[in-house]
Amino acid sequence: MTLLTVRGLTAGYGEGEVIHDVDLAVAPGATTALLGANGAGKTTTLRAITGMIARRGTVTFDGHDLAGLTSDQVARLGIAHVPQGRGTFAQLSVQDNLLVGALSRRDRSGVATDLDRCRSLFPILATRARSAAGTLSGGEQQMLAMSRALMARPRLLVLDEPSLGLAPGITRQIFDLLPLLRVEWDTAVLVVEQNANLALALADDAVVLENGRVAMAGAAAEIAGHDDVRRAYLGT
Ligand code: ATP
Repeated sequence: MTLLTVRGLTAGYGEGEVIHDVDLAVAPGATTALLGANGAGKTTTLRAITGMIARRGTVTFDGHDLAGLTSDQVARLGIAHVPQGRGTFAQLSVQDNLLVGALSRRDRSGVATDLDRCRSLFPILATRARSAAGTLSGGEQQMLAMSRALMARPRLLVLDEPSLGLAPGITRQIFDLLPLLRVEWDTAVLVVEQNANLALALADDAVVLENGRVAMAGAAAEIAGHDDVRRAYLGT
């Protein structure tokens, strides 16, 4: 059973196609890693899935065909996209950023519970609750961006290079959270990550893109053991 199924996804910018015929899937509560070299088309794939750019092919999420839906409509169906660069509201406080994530929710007590849960995941969000988000460090902003996405109670969290520019310790802290999401938030994850070692160690499944096409796909453990992947991405 899959939560997200992508078939024959083709997309790009203007006349130029960047990704071609991409297939991928994410199972409920599972993590799929999307890997590939710089410029392979990973970010473009995420943008096409979440309706930020035009595409061909089919994207089905939780039984819904996402054809023709705007990125807002996709978000309301339960896909939360944390873009590269994080996209927090720099002038708003940490607390208000978290509440923005919950704007579409009507269950006030659930929102309060989830605020507490985010703060226990990342205590810095409590200690800096009243600070402007723009004053947080890069790692703290990533924690805020992920937490803001969780506040919408998504079924699928789409993360674009959460480790970009972060120190290894902070990256570890963020990646250690991924298995918890399945257990405590019932959330699946589609993650683009340059650090293939890290991503393959935590993911259930992986897809490797090369020049906008799927070069390899399967269980993360199998992909991690593949000689070509080891040479190209794992440094072994
Ligand atoms: P990276 O790991 O460097 O982020 P990526 O695998 O995520 O790379 P994409 O960002 O999807 O790759 O870029 C794929 C191709 O699409 C690149 O050639 C890039 O220059 C081009 N591209 C990306 N964004 C745009 C845009 N907004 N307009 C035009 N071309 C773009």
